[in-house]
Amino acid sequence: MAYRPDLLVPYGYGRDERTLEQVRTWLLAHHHPEYVERLVAWLDAQDGHIGPGGGWRAGGAQPNKPGFAPEGKSFHQDQNFADGFCGAAAVDLVARNGTSVHRAPTWSEVPAQGSAEAKTWGVHCNVGTPGKVGSEPWHIQPIELDGWQTWWNQGRPAPVVGYPFPDRFPPDPDPEPEPTPAPQPSEEDDPMFIARDVTTGKMWLGNLISKVQVDDVTAQHRIAFAQRAGRPILNTDGKPVLWEHKLSTVLAVSDAQIRALGGAPV
Ligand SMILES: [Zn+2]
Repeated sequence: MAYRPDLLVPYGYGRDERTLEQVRTWLLAHHHPEYVERLVAWLDAQDGHIGPGGGWRAGGAQPNKPGFAPEGKSFHQDQNFADGFCGAAAVDLVARNGTSVHRAPTWSEVPAQGSAEAKTWGVHCNVGTPGKVGSEPWHIQPIELDGWQTWWNQGRPAPVVGYPFPDRFPPDPDPEPEPTPAPQPSEEDDPMFIARDVTTGKMWLGNLISKVQVDDVTAQHRIAFAQRAGRPILNTDGKPVLWEHKLSTVLAVSDAQIRALGGAPV
């Protein structure tokens, strides 16, 4: 997200504040959405120091005063853009002023037309020359828009969607590499696999072997035989050998049991 939704910014010409999310929603009601995204991102970069004083004006509401565009020729009013959007594309900014009512921003606080800051964010303050009488550092528009008549003569271009202001299109995070599955040794390849108990599986035997360091060929053969037979290894008392039993118990599997299962004792 290119802006902090909860960031509080000055709003209006008193002492009000709104969150950037509220400002964005308020702007989207009347302003070109591409302009809104750029302006909100630039406002976020001002860290809550600058906000909107005024925005959209209804038809007929343009003040008939010096310094104001003629009725119907202001980007504060609805205009028909070439992309089919009908709405506004200008805001008048205010700056925080301590505990006093918000003040007008100075030229040093806004992206003047032609400046690097204007190019970065895609919005500019284009009315008048900085420092000259009659200039308006508070009036901000998309950089595609300058004077109304010029815009009209150029075919009413809309702000071009997708202006690449900072953090608008964060790069995709590197995808997590797929973990390479550890090769699963086949049972034949596993030196620890000698037999599988039909109820408890490989683990008990592995544990048994690791616990008692089976190196006794006789025990290994007996266990292996029982595994091939698909039968649990029986203890001398006829109960299955469990993994926690000691090697001596495994060795206690009798030759008679092996024979009974159809094998030959080793
Ligand atoms: Zn204005």
